[in-house]
Amino acid sequence: MSLTARILTGIGLGIVTGLILNFFLPDFFTPLNTYVFEPLGKIFVNLIKMLVIPIVFVSLVLGTAGISEPKKLGRIGIKTIAFFLATTAIAIFLALVAALIFKPGVGNFQLPAEDFEAIEAPPVMETLINMIPTNPITAMAEEAMLQVIVFSLFVGFAIARLGEKTNGLKKIFEQLNDILMYLVQLVMKYAPIGAFALIATVIGGEGLNGIAAMFKYFSLVVLVLILHVLIVYCPALSILGRMNPIKFFKGFSSAMIVAFSTSSSNATLPVSMRAAQDNLGVSRTVSGFVQPLGATINMDGTAIMQGVATVFIAQIVGQDLTIAQLLTVLLTATLASIGTAGAPGVGVIMLTMVLTSVGLPVEAIALVLGVDRLVDMFRTAVNITGDAVCAVIVDHSERRLEQTNANIPI
Ligand code: ASP
Repeated sequence: MSLTARILTGIGLGIVTGLILNFFLPDFFTPLNTYVFEPLGKIFVNLIKMLVIPIVFVSLVLGTAGISEPKKLGRIGIKTIAFFLATTAIAIFLALVAALIFKPGVGNFQLPAEDFEAIEAPPVMETLINMIPTNPITAMAEEAMLQVIVFSLFVGFAIARLGEKTNGLKKIFEQLNDILMYLVQLVMKYAPIGAFALIATVIGGEGLNGIAAMFKYFSLVVLVLILHVLIVYCPALSILGRMNPIKFFKGFSSAMIVAFSTSSSNATLPVSMRAAQDNLGVSRTVSGFVQPLGATINMDGTAIMQGVATVFIAQIVGQDLTIAQLLTVLLTATLASIGTAGAPGVGVIMLTMVLTSVGLPVEAIALVLGVDRLVDMFRTAVNITGDAVCAVIVDHSERRLEQTNANIPI
């Protein structure tokens, strides 16, 4: 059986086990969860997480160092950021339109007021300023991804500029990269068991009830996520990346499944980079630059959730959003998704920022918290897919440029 098939089997068994425990043997769930599922799931997540900071650092240094001309670095950087911003804006637009059409919050839904708890919106401006680490070691120790990224970009740039002088170090980084990629492969052998355990924990704990209460909201987010993949990623892949979407999903599905079961773009990064490089043929330079950056700032799935959730909450509290407010949501949800760390559940915390911007009660996120664990699985899979699509496209356009340059007679 292929790895993807084995992970899918793990997920299937996890769902069945979770449902059986939730419906028929609820007394057994807690001990089983505490002593079997949670530890098994945690071990899997820890194993991948162990590789994340080293991979972000090493791959971004190599990715940047590999682009020796500042012009090329600037070009790749601009293409990447432009793609990230454009797709995120389209994602939120789709989410808003869908939520306004389907009205998930209109109907006989009750406000579970007792569930409200005050949560503060994190200051986004501060996050932006703090992108430059005062201490790179602290940044790594605290997993401050944006800071680690900025530091890695600087080191990579220096290696590229110093050329010959730093060749030795560049070699060492290449070898470190080989070691890390080998370890990813090793860790992934455990993925089927890890995925089984993670899913069993969620389904066993929430059962179907958790889903049913907010079914409309949940299914609308999932619908828009699928739409986004179909009408944005697929055409972008074939037109801009000249890659058959089927080939893409065949090669990338293992990473999507890991994203689905871990709900963490960061934790999935090692797997998604490996899939892009080995199965989709994206160069190490482009993948090493685009994917770690994307895992940190490009979250189309999260943006979609924030768009749908905002309209959903507005409808529940009976507030009509004006065009100006919808535009504000577009802007703030773009920023909020950039500021969302690629870890489980962060997107819903950043949602508070969007709600505040249009004067909706921040506490109302309690309305979507119930199903957020499940929504998170789907949106994270879309988040990392967007990064990989961008990597394929940038890689294709760089190759074409190189070919054109090579064909110009000197
Ligand atoms: N879990 C998401 C991710 O890692 C972030 C979010 O909570 O939306 O991509």
